[in-house]
Amino acid sequence: MPFSEKIRKLKQEILQDYRPRFDAVDEIAEQNTLKVLDAMRSCRVSDAHFNTTSGYAYDDIGRGKLEELYAKLFGAERALVRTQFVSGTHALATVLFGILRPGDELVSLTGKPYDTMQTVIGYDNPSPGSLKEFGIQYRELPMQDGMVDLHGIAGVISSKTKMVLIQRSRGYSMRNPLSVADIRRICQEVKRVKPDCICFVDNCYGEFVETEEPTQAGADIMAGSLIKNPGGGIAPTGGYIIGKDKLVELASYRLTAPGMGDELGASLSNNRLLFQGLFLAPHVVAQSIKGAIFAAAMFDRLGYKTLPLPEDVRGDIIQAIELGSAEKLIAFCGGIQKYSPVDSFAAPEPWDMPGYADKVIMAAGTFVQGASIEFSADGPLRAPYNVYLQGGLTFEHAVIGIMGAAQAIEDLGK
Ligand SMILES: *Cc1c(COP(=O)(O)O)cnc(C)c1O
Repeated sequence: MPFSEKIRKLKQEILQDYRPRFDAVDEIAEQNTLKVLDAMRSCRVSDAHFNTTSGYAYDDIGRGKLEELYAKLFGAERALVRTQFVSGTHALATVLFGILRPGDELVSLTGKPYDTMQTVIGYDNPSPGSLKEFGIQYRELPMQDGMVDLHGIAGVISSKTKMVLIQRSRGYSMRNPLSVADIRRICQEVKRVKPDCICFVDNCYGEFVETEEPTQAGADIMAGSLIKNPGGGIAPTGGYIIGKDKLVELASYRLTAPGMGDELGASLSNNRLLFQGLFLAPHVVAQSIKGAIFAAAMFDRLGYKTLPLPEDVRGDIIQAIELGSAEKLIAFCGGIQKYSPVDSFAAPEPWDMPGYADKVIMAAGTFVQGASIEFSADGPLRAPYNVYLQGGLTFEHAVIGIMGAAQAIEDLGK
């Protein structure tokens, strides 16, 4: 038996005690699966859409159908869903550079944005080619007690503010993610202050956690990664942008070239993977969330501070645990890696990552490189040594991996 008596006993107790929470997550997955099926029927998705195209790929019916499906599902006018996006950051940056012009101002309403967005914007962490170099102004409204400062919005938006950035997930911070209801209130306040201000949501890690998405709650445009929630663990790479017709069109000129936009882009062999991934996504997201609840309960009972708490309602798939030392952070990631399907023989080590300010340690034995909808853990090597745990294609795998992490810390003997 690889796990101690204590850890096995905790597992049994948690599976019992949190049963109603796990059931509630499964209920959301069922509602979202119905939503996906309804959209697929209404868009008449069929076998012919899984074929591949090459070259310029004008009139790629699979690509076109996939984008129609995403737009329909998320209650929006238009979508760009492409494997040509190399990551979530690329899709998010494409929105910013596609829409903002010199002299415009961008305001982040959720404080300091996600690490990789800081190099894109260029004020907190300068980088060649950033928005700053193109003369785009930038301001931040700090969060208050983990919430968006609704009363501060009127004071931070000026006549130059073309767009606000709203980050749904916690990223590498210990704040709460926003709920879709929070996003609705924020967008209402922004529009009250400046009706033509564009509400842009970084939707990474939020898809299918609730039964509504930001574009159904007042957001004008949103973007995310296909190797997170909406790819369902099947998409091999890519990102999406969804929103108002004109805004997505502007972003498309940045993805390809002015005048070309979304009319080109070979889907290569990936169309089926993207349709099938979307179909699986509600279920896979539920597996991850149940894993996150299990992790919170396990480490809560072992005496650690967790965010969210095990009983909290979830707004994203991330579970943060404050481990308190570099040694425990490294051990935790080693435990996760050991029970991964890929590279389970390797020991993760802290490393300098492009776009990140501190060294980062990552446990990721994933089929798709870096896919954080697959069970994975990471954390920057900085006090208080929080580990961020996310993903899990199956709940069983998450349970085993979390027991492995708890065991690795127990083995340190501290
Ligand atoms: C993952 C993530 C991104 C984008 O990261 P990529 O690794 O480039 O996909 C952006 N914002 C948030 C909040 C994220 O979680």
